[in-house]
Amino acid sequence: MTAPALHILNTVYGYPQFRGQQAAIIETVGQGRDALVLMPTGGGKSLCYQIPSLLRPGVGIVVSPLIALMQDQVDNLHQLGVRAAFLNSSLDMDAQRAVEQQLLRGELDLLYIAPERLLQPRTLQFLERCELALFAIDEAHCVAQWGHDFRKDYLGLSLLSERFPNVPRVALTATADIRTRAEIAERLQLRDAEWFVSGFDRPNICYQVAAKVDARKQLLKFLDSYRGQAGIVYCLSRKKVEATAEWLNEQGITALPYHAGLSPILRETNQRRFLREDGIVMVATIAFGMGIDKPDVRFVAHLDLPKSMEAYYQETGRAGRDGEPATALLLYGLQDVVRMKDMLASSDAPEQFKRQERHKLDTLLGWCEMIDCRREALLAYFGDDYGRRCGNCDTCLTPPKTWDATQAAQKLLSCIYRSGQRFGAAHTVDILLGKSNEKVLQYGHEKLSTFGIGKGLGEQQWRSLIRQLLIRGFIEVDVQGFGGLRLTEQSRPVLRGEIALALRIDTVDTNARAQRSRNRLVDVTPELEPLWRALRDCRKRIAEEQGIAPFMVFHDATLRLMAVEQPLTESALLHISGVGQSKLEHYGAAFLAVIREQAGDLAIS
Ligand code: ADP
Ligand code: ZN
Repeated sequence: MTAPALHILNTVYGYPQFRGQQAAIIETVGQGRDALVLMPTGGGKSLCYQIPSLLRPGVGIVVSPLIALMQDQVDNLHQLGVRAAFLNSSLDMDAQRAVEQQLLRGELDLLYIAPERLLQPRTLQFLERCELALFAIDEAHCVAQWGHDFRKDYLGLSLLSERFPNVPRVALTATADIRTRAEIAERLQLRDAEWFVSGFDRPNICYQVAAKVDARKQLLKFLDSYRGQAGIVYCLSRKKVEATAEWLNEQGITALPYHAGLSPILRETNQRRFLREDGIVMVATIAFGMGIDKPDVRFVAHLDLPKSMEAYYQETGRAGRDGEPATALLLYGLQDVVRMKDMLASSDAPEQFKRQERHKLDTLLGWCEMIDCRREALLAYFGDDYGRRCGNCDTCLTPPKTWDATQAAQKLLSCIYRSGQRFGAAHTVDILLGKSNEKVLQYGHEKLSTFGIGKGLGEQQWRSLIRQLLIRGFIEVDVQGFGGLRLTEQSRPVLRGEIALALRIDTVDTNARAQRSRNRLVDVTPELEPLWRALRDCRKRIAEEQGIAPFMVFHDATLRLMAVEQPLTESALLHISGVGQSKLEHYGAAFLAVIREQAGDLAIS
């Protein structure tokens, strides 16, 4: 069983070996048994149904809700020489008939189809006349009513087990939630399926969190390490998305906006450019991302807080699908904390829901403030026991320092108390710093005993202290009032000096700390830069000619291997990971010509 599978991996995909549980999954499905696959983004789920489809007689039917993605998936397979097609509402009648003919003649290895189309009686009857290798149910969490991606059509997929009892089914998802897993097995009638659960670690993503001081400046500094590379910048509001994209363009960085308020045409154009051109920064609300299957997204930067740990994991997970080093940067400050709490308080959702959301936000905020390994905590949240420091997150790379904030906290708390517990952070800090501005004088706060007692710290430090005390519940914001700071039950022991507070000193540095070549097999040294650039140009030219994305020709990692190993013959080129038979035939000559020319130059100089 494994030998033919490995042969396909080598010759069709050009990869030397299977990753993680791929081989076991392919064996199970290849033998006609059902499987439930939980694997993080970038883990290599596609091969788990593509290879069994190639191994087994008949066509593999891939059910996916992401219609916009089907063209790309099929293009990708065509590049590998695999016979694939899709059926969805974007096809006209003639195109549809053509695909049906191919199916009946047994000319397809893979067919992508949307669930609503698959479940039409006509389609089901039609498929009963075809030989079927398997059903792959991608994004299987869409069947879970608890999840945020629930699709009603997915519920109907349970009938596949009755209509096609002899066709193996494999359900796949990257969703971490334990409750969702059980629901998938239940609703898709996969109770006898073998489970393949991979951990949720994304080892190539470096997690980085910094206190927001001057978001634009911090972002720009971060982007310095990512010149010419693709990434996503998430903002909370549409307005901020547009302003940030415009500003980045002024700074000489090609950035495009994306949010639900843009016209469908503009959204589509921007998304397409992001996929097809090299090195575009997408500035977006969370409306962007679902089904973005771009492997070379090098960073995801959050300029505003995500909603929960789940959202954070999902949004940052769009970085580094190709396994190459990537960074997730999150900037957050006091303002974000107040705003998120305010949004929750003023929503008219049921109280139970709000309590749940508040808990999720608090968990995320606690994670932001932590001084231990971020990856370990993130994975623990999803039930994975990592059990060590990762060495690839900001707290591991530069362990944060703490300071004794007990006295400062006492000053702050008494200042809040004496000014009547109804003023916000800005005014409170003004009093502490002894600023006799208009508002301070208007309320006579220059006469308070706490006026000017905080000159030992700067404004940023005070704001950081307020933020941390808020997150830990030592103070609260009166969101129903005017956002005034108030004391809580927990304030008392601090004021009485019964507990000592060791708080984190904020990190504001946003230099991409990831040791960028950490997870790379090979790195391009400066002398190889010209060759590397020439290879990229060659890829770009081919991609444009074919109307496909550059990464569909070859991934960065493959080009990098070419630059380092400089294969001069077809058989040497075939040894490069990512070069299979079909790509060798189509592009081998072009890339060999580039290598020969440039390598010649290198030898002479
Ligand atoms: P997922 O769907 O789980 O997010 P994909 O199937 O898109 O992941 O795979 C992610 C990337 O990893 C793809 O570019 C794929 O070609 C690559 N890949 C998958 N399996 C292997 C492997 N065994 N060796 C090398 N690269 C692989
Ligand atoms: Zn770590």
